[in-house]
Amino acid sequence: MMIPIPEQSLVLLLGPSGSGKSTLANAHFLPEDVLPGTGNETRLHEEVARRLARGTLTVIDGVPLSAESRRHYVTLAREHHVALVAVALDTPEALCLERNRTRTGAHASPKALRNQVQQLQNALKGLTKEGIRHVHVLTPETVGAVAFEHRPLPSRRHDEHGPFDIIGDIHGCFTELRSLLTELGFTVAPRADGSPGFDVATPAGRKVVFLGDLVDRGPGVTDVLRLVMGMVEAGTALCVPGNHEFKLLKKLRGKDVRVGRGLAMTLEQLEREPPGFSQAVADFIEARSPHYVLDDGRLVAAHAGLKAPMHGRDTPEVRDFALYGETTGEADAYGLPVRADWARDYQGQAMVVYGHTPVPESEWVNNTVCVDTGCVFGGKLTALRYPEREFVSVPAQHEYWASRSHAAP
Ligand code: ATP
Ligand code: MG
Repeated sequence: MMIPIPEQSLVLLLGPSGSGKSTLANAHFLPEDVLPGTGNETRLHEEVARRLARGTLTVIDGVPLSAESRRHYVTLAREHHVALVAVALDTPEALCLERNRTRTGAHASPKALRNQVQQLQNALKGLTKEGIRHVHVLTPETVGAVAFEHRPLPSRRHDEHGPFDIIGDIHGCFTELRSLLTELGFTVAPRADGSPGFDVATPAGRKVVFLGDLVDRGPGVTDVLRLVMGMVEAGTALCVPGNHEFKLLKKLRGKDVRVGRGLAMTLEQLEREPPGFSQAVADFIEARSPHYVLDDGRLVAAHAGLKAPMHGRDTPEVRDFALYGETTGEADAYGLPVRADWARDYQGQAMVVYGHTPVPESEWVNNTVCVDTGCVFGGKLTALRYPEREFVSVPAQHEYWASRSHAAP
């Protein structure tokens, strides 16, 4: 049995006295990552909060077996956007009793033990309902074979120092993409071996970061996909997905999605491609990290932007924010969610570069900038050069999509 442990998790070890929590912690985690779950709760919660804010893996050995104790940890994990993993040791009472009898040091009395065993059984019925997404139950038969796989978070790419050319929402505007890349000093040519796709020669050391929404609405979706997928594969570009890629992925995976006109244009273009291409596109989208933290934490790239506490974190909430942005829960005249202005409140150290909502001109707001300048609506396609903080744009050749309906799918 393999239990994945994302880099910044909060891990709760649950089980009655003698079930083997400390033994497990000792065997699989570093001593500095393990905190005893008993003692002064307030102080413990403060320490856990400090650790989670830093993104340090934290294992609680022996969370008191009450729903209320667990609720504090659910709240802490939510506040700090880290994965919450519960590992429950479902060890029979008789075995715990037997182990505790031969044990030196403090442990529960037989009466307290019986109560704990009961509490664990009750807890096991509802841990996921309490908001603990990852629950693993170990028994004396399985505990010996368990392995914890420590997983680095894909978003943390501190080792990528650029320089970067960060390109906003392309939406199938291949002609403009090629012009922009040329303007930036890249050379785009059809593949030398005659296979579909492009050879892109990059100016010394530079890399492109694509901010997602490559697809839908524009005429050159498959060329854009081929170029971006080829550059990512060649290691000359990074790419985060946009909400349009996510919807396309769902559709390509056979899920039931409402197909608007923009997506229908993508699907029509994909149908003209050889078999296997759509599958490759779906695999490409699925493999993308929802955002990136680059250049030792100084630069964050996300389709719809990202609040500071979410940088380098990887939960469904963080992914949703990176893809769709913050919404107020209210609907506008089109019945679409009203977007809240996270950038106005941003106080983080990292520069955040994003797209998603078209703007007439890219403007700095608290070290954040939107580089979606509405190319598909007849605006322009923009790149931010990093670290130069210089904008380079090419005008759209056409208004491919009526801007009044820009918010429609
Ligand atoms: P407490 O809540 O009282 O701290 P605990 O769950 O941390 O209990 P441990 O201290 O890990 O329990 O284990 C209790 C005793 O059982 C120890 O003596 C330990 O060596 C033994 N033990 C733990 N796990 C196993 C195991 N998988 N196989 C055999 N013995 C075990
Ligand atoms: Mg213990």
